Amino acid sequence: MDGKTVAACIDAAQATLKDHADEIEALDQQIGDGDHIFNLLRGMDALVALRGQLEARAFGAALELAGAKVLSTVGGSSGPLFFSLLQGMAKAAAALPEVDAGHASIDDAARIFASGVEAVAQRGRTGMGSKTMMDVLIPVAARLTEMAAAGAGAAAVLEALPQVAEEHMLATRDMLATKGRASFLGERSRGHIDPGARSSQLMIAAVCAQFAQSA
Ligand code: ADP
Ligand code: MG
Repeated sequence: MDGKTVAACIDAAQATLKDHADEIEALDQQIGDGDHIFNLLRGMDALVALRGQLEARAFGAALELAGAKVLSTVGGSSGPLFFSLLQGMAKAAAALPEVDAGHASIDDAARIFASGVEAVAQRGRTGMGSKTMMDVLIPVAARLTEMAAAGAGAAAVLEALPQVAEEHMLATRDMLATKGRASFLGERSRGHIDPGARSSQLMIAAVCAQFAQSA
């Protein structure tokens, strides 16, 4: 994995967000203020414009640069949260020299993603069950860690993670929001999928497909 991997994942994430922009806008209009997709697309445009710099860097350094760009371009609650995800991943990658040497294992990927998710949990002070992106991020990180420990191969992991993400994204529909803007709606937050859960799930699926294709 290197900076080109990061740039390719950004392209994949941007494409799926563009494809689902109207849907994500509608979700955030239902239980938020409607800006979630615009926050994300602004960040994606800025990241795509950084391609040359990202591709010239090692994996961890590219994640760090991408994180800084997200923090300065993505607004709303989700900007600092996605910044934390990338920064947490960059920190873990920096502690795994084999990753920058191009020999990342499933176990390395699990450590990196789990570190990012832990950073988001700390930043947002949220675990599962609050009807946020954490309801997708935490179970995906947990399944990745479990599969890495069980010695699963890349193909199995890349098939399983999008399924876990989708199942848990759908489960946010019936939850009561207790964090973020949607929590102001109380019981009226039920019956709508959380926009951050949907955008996170879509990006996870797109990144897994990107890795599966390049494997
Ligand atoms: P805002 O709510 O400030 O308008 P966005 O629309 O960009 O910000 O993002 C909304 C999404 O952020 C929500 O759908 C939810 O998934 C996520 N979110 C909000 N607060 C938190 C939190 N404390 N922890 C994790 N995710 C959160
Ligand atoms: Mg919003």
